[in-house]
Amino acid sequence: MKSLSIKNVNKFYKLGNKEKFQALSDINLDFTKGELVSVVGESGSGKSTLMNFIGGLDSDFSGDIEVYGTNLQGLKDKQLDKYRKNKVGFVFQSFNLIPHLSILDNVTISLTLSGVSEHEKVKKATMMLEKVGLGNQLKKKPNQLSGGQKQRVAIARALINDPDIILADEPTGALDTETTGQILEILKKIADDGKLVIMVTHSEKVASISSRVIELSDGKVIRDEKNKNYKKYKTRKNKEKLEASKTKNEKQSLGFWSAIKLAFHNMWASKTKNFLMAFGVAISISSLILMLSFSSGLTGYIQSMASQYSSPTIVTISKKGDSSDPFSFVSPSPFTREEIVEVVNDLNNNALQITDYKIDIENDVSYGYMAVTGLTRTASITYTNSEDEELNSSLFAVYTTPKYYNSSNLIKGEISKENEIMVSQGVINQFGEEAFGRTVTISIDFNGTIIKKSATITAIVESSMFNSMNVLYIDYDFFSRTVYEETLQATGEGVELEPSSIYIETDSQETTNIINNYIKTKEEYSGSMEEKLATMFSQMMDTFGIALAIISGISLIVASIMILVVLYISVTERTKEIGVLKSIGARKKDIKLIFTSESFLVGLLSGLVGCALSLVSIILIKIILTAIIGFAPITLTWYYFLISILIAVFISVLSGLYPSSKASKLDPVEALRRE
Ligand code: ADP
Ligand code: MG
Repeated sequence: MKSLSIKNVNKFYKLGNKEKFQALSDINLDFTKGELVSVVGESGSGKSTLMNFIGGLDSDFSGDIEVYGTNLQGLKDKQLDKYRKNKVGFVFQSFNLIPHLSILDNVTISLTLSGVSEHEKVKKATMMLEKVGLGNQLKKKPNQLSGGQKQRVAIARALINDPDIILADEPTGALDTETTGQILEILKKIADDGKLVIMVTHSEKVASISSRVIELSDGKVIRDEKNKNYKKYKTRKNKEKLEASKTKNEKQSLGFWSAIKLAFHNMWASKTKNFLMAFGVAISISSLILMLSFSSGLTGYIQSMASQYSSPTIVTISKKGDSSDPFSFVSPSPFTREEIVEVVNDLNNNALQITDYKIDIENDVSYGYMAVTGLTRTASITYTNSEDEELNSSLFAVYTTPKYYNSSNLIKGEISKENEIMVSQGVINQFGEEAFGRTVTISIDFNGTIIKKSATITAIVESSMFNSMNVLYIDYDFFSRTVYEETLQATGEGVELEPSSIYIETDSQETTNIINNYIKTKEEYSGSMEEKLATMFSQMMDTFGIALAIISGISLIVASIMILVVLYISVTERTKEIGVLKSIGARKKDIKLIFTSESFLVGLLSGLVGCALSLVSIILIKIILTAIIGFAPITLTWYYFLISILIAVFISVLSGLYPSSKASKLDPVEALRRE
């Protein structure tokens, strides 16, 4: 039976607009198994073109090529891939081994593409390499072998899937005479074992040892001679035959884990480049984690701060300022006495309609005042220390002590009353511990009038928010009397301090909740100043968060483009490798899977490095912030790591799509021609 039959094959290469070049004309040839055929002819006579057709690397020809009855003409891409994988084996002049894979892996690769199990793959490839005399070189890399040894690896690779036809395009072109002899010997054995071996050669000497010589000239067969003196080897034992056993339970496709393993090998080959790329991506990933940690840290901090200022049986009500102005708390609108009566009546008649509890305006309601110093007002405390130095502390805010404050709100000391004040830790830091218990002078710009008053520091107030700032806490009654007296003295007319918030003492948490919920429905009122401050902080945080998100987003885009460029260049650099993979039957899908696995690994590595990087920076930031401002509003949660790794993998795989698809679409003949 004819193994291979070539009928009326013609090939025209298109050159420019309308010109065509005929590379093959009317080729008619029949081959049977066991033949060792030499194809000779001058350079450009069409030898490689013909070999590429027989090997299924190129199917753009007219005519028919039948292999054991299957016509290659009109086969679909997938069928051609299968044909290359199982029916033909290629041996090239320049060996075309994959440089970063070991000898063993170079041979197992076509089995890997068929989804053969690890154990069987290694067993088969080892046996094949032993047969070509390389049993002790399995772990070496191609560049550690001589030319002849490389070609033997290539032959082992060509034979591993037990093909019917071996195609060798100038297999001895790069070898010396002695090695040429050894390679020819192996090819002859392959033919004698019952395969069809077709090789292209320039050497008449090489041609003379084959069973048949075909000469091409300008795309035509001008000689086809059988060698009458050709002697087959005597029948050899099965063990010595250069044949691989047929593989069992083949899945015919590259498995996911094999692809990952292969990708890992490929990436390890250029580890510096890949690590640098991953590091670049990791920086944007870690900025993402930092952003998330800061946002949640600050949000949590603000919430804890706001809850610190709430008491289960005290309701705080203040007037809402201009809602469009986040800084409205700086100039709180005061309540008049009439408005306070109105609010209390409203609550009693509506919110507390069905409860037994009613607010008693004389006993349950107290007042509060708060002012944050801005550009237009100043407030300070002056202290003359034991060395007679006058120290001045500018205040960030002046607070009247809320009625619900008790010793648990203090770091040290007792709640201040008449002629006494309390301060934040920041003031004590400035004056020194000795100032505690001493008399100081407070001076506050009150609508243009400077209020001055001597008072004793009786306590340091604990406040997660204000510990590091300078804040004065003063009893409401003491403050309002001082304001009245001082303004009276300065202008002749005493000013009644109008409260910026009112505190209502309730009988239970339940009542507090009822009133708070009612207040929420009111347009003109809000909760405490602290709550307002918290709201302002969260508004600022939101803006800050958006800015951070944009920065992270941009850095992720930059990272994606970097991955795309690096992978794209890698495809260009590895064109030949892709050609080799295609010649041994890799499908588009397989190539895509290998390259996608590489981008997946880049993403995974970037994500992991990014997590490590952010962990280190967060620890450092915590240490530094704690040292400087006494707290670190940064909260790291484990799922940020998970999210970041997922994002890193996602952007990598996404960026790898185009390069992978480009790799998979490369034309094998052109890719192999690339140096
Ligand atoms: P050989 O292997 O015998 O040296 P080839 O089969 O490589 O010759 O080429 C046969 C002829 O076809 C040559 O003249 C070559 O220039 C031409 N040829 C090969 N590939 C192409 C191509 N892709 N486009 C145009 N002409 C080509
Ligand atoms: Mg050629």
